[in-house]
Amino acid sequence: MGLNKKTVDDINAKGKRVLVRCDFNVPLKNGEITDETRIVAALPTIKKLINDGGKVILCSHLGKVKDGPNEGESLAPVAKRLSEKLGKEVVFVSDYNVTGEAATKAVEAMKEGDVVLLQNTRFRGKEETKNGEEFSKELADLADLYVCDAFGSSHRAHASVEGVTKFIKAKGGENVVGYLMQKEINFLGNAVENPVRPFVAILGGAKVADKLNVINNLLEKCDTLIIGGGMAYTFLKAQGLEIGNSLVDDEKLDYCKEMMDKAQKLGKKLLLPIDSVTIKEFPNPIDAPVETEVYDADKMPAGREGCDIGPKTQALFAEAVKSAKTVVWNGPMGVFENPTLAAGTIAVAKALAETDATTIIGGGDSAAACNQLGFADKMSHISTGGGASLEFLEGKELPGVYAADDK
Ligand code: ATP
Repeated sequence: MGLNKKTVDDINAKGKRVLVRCDFNVPLKNGEITDETRIVAALPTIKKLINDGGKVILCSHLGKVKDGPNEGESLAPVAKRLSEKLGKEVVFVSDYNVTGEAATKAVEAMKEGDVVLLQNTRFRGKEETKNGEEFSKELADLADLYVCDAFGSSHRAHASVEGVTKFIKAKGGENVVGYLMQKEINFLGNAVENPVRPFVAILGGAKVADKLNVINNLLEKCDTLIIGGGMAYTFLKAQGLEIGNSLVDDEKLDYCKEMMDKAQKLGKKLLLPIDSVTIKEFPNPIDAPVETEVYDADKMPAGREGCDIGPKTQALFAEAVKSAKTVVWNGPMGVFENPTLAAGTIAVAKALAETDATTIIGGGDSAAACNQLGFADKMSHISTGGGASLEFLEGKELPGVYAADDK
């Protein structure tokens, strides 16, 4: 996988029309932005291009847009907030067509350092999500250069992520990545492809089936693979252990055996829970009080459900992390949404926070857990893209990454 990509530092944006694909998919409530993290994260790349004298044309999707273009999923609130953050006008092209006459006119009127935001790219429906040629070309027609800074969308071959790059290239323009993308590539991509060893990968979360390729790929790349969370019980059952009512995927028992054999053949350490915090009934709501009992993995009685790693496993996993130089973590160790069942996830987060290793959190629930538990600033990198980071860990080529020019 070629990960040495051209960035905004490698182009001369002065006087050029630069189309930047951002991730402005912010949560909205009654038209108000409830979390501006993604807008703030996009600022360094945008500011750099403004300072260089580029004509900065921004685009992004917002929401899933199931029922066609609508005001509720317009990027208008983003234009307003972005303008406040930049301290300068952001011209918003509200036209539901995204490209077309209104966009062209707005771009023609731009001066160096101006900023235009196009309407939600998903308003073009399948043309966006199926990588439509026409929409891709219309986007490319607006610009001379293209910057992808939307890591959260980079695993999707959409028109505004991938299709557009072909047309930019065809007219001799450059396709590069922004600072956000660059950071994700440096941490996630290089950690997996070229890790400083020992490299420990930690996987958790609910289902084995969601992470088959991640397990397989990481097993090949890492020195130690740690598996906790709900997905560990399919492995334990595959070893012939009683797992009570714990989460299990019976169709994946053979797969788990295969992975355990593979680990042995490759000489990799595969660590599984040696004890569990169990409950009798799953809490409803999820954070309702629960009574727990801890059992060793070989003494679990029928009728109990393992919902967190136990104290012995916490110590085992923490010890494995201690000597690591690179750690990648995806998926909580238990039902961390419940304070009584969060100790395992906290222990792993703490072990990562205390090591000198490069620590990378692969988005989704583990990122949420780190933020919620107050460990976020202790990690080297917390990925901004759940799905995209998982695909990186699977070793897949991400369209938003491979479409960028190599250095
Ligand atoms: P994302 O897909 O958003 O990146 P993730 O990969 O971090 O998330 P998921 O596979 O979605 O993780 O699983 C997270 C969920 O798994 C949490 O809601 C948690 O409560 C649940 N979970 C973890 N351990 C167990 C367990 N032992 N039993 C039941 N549920 C569990």
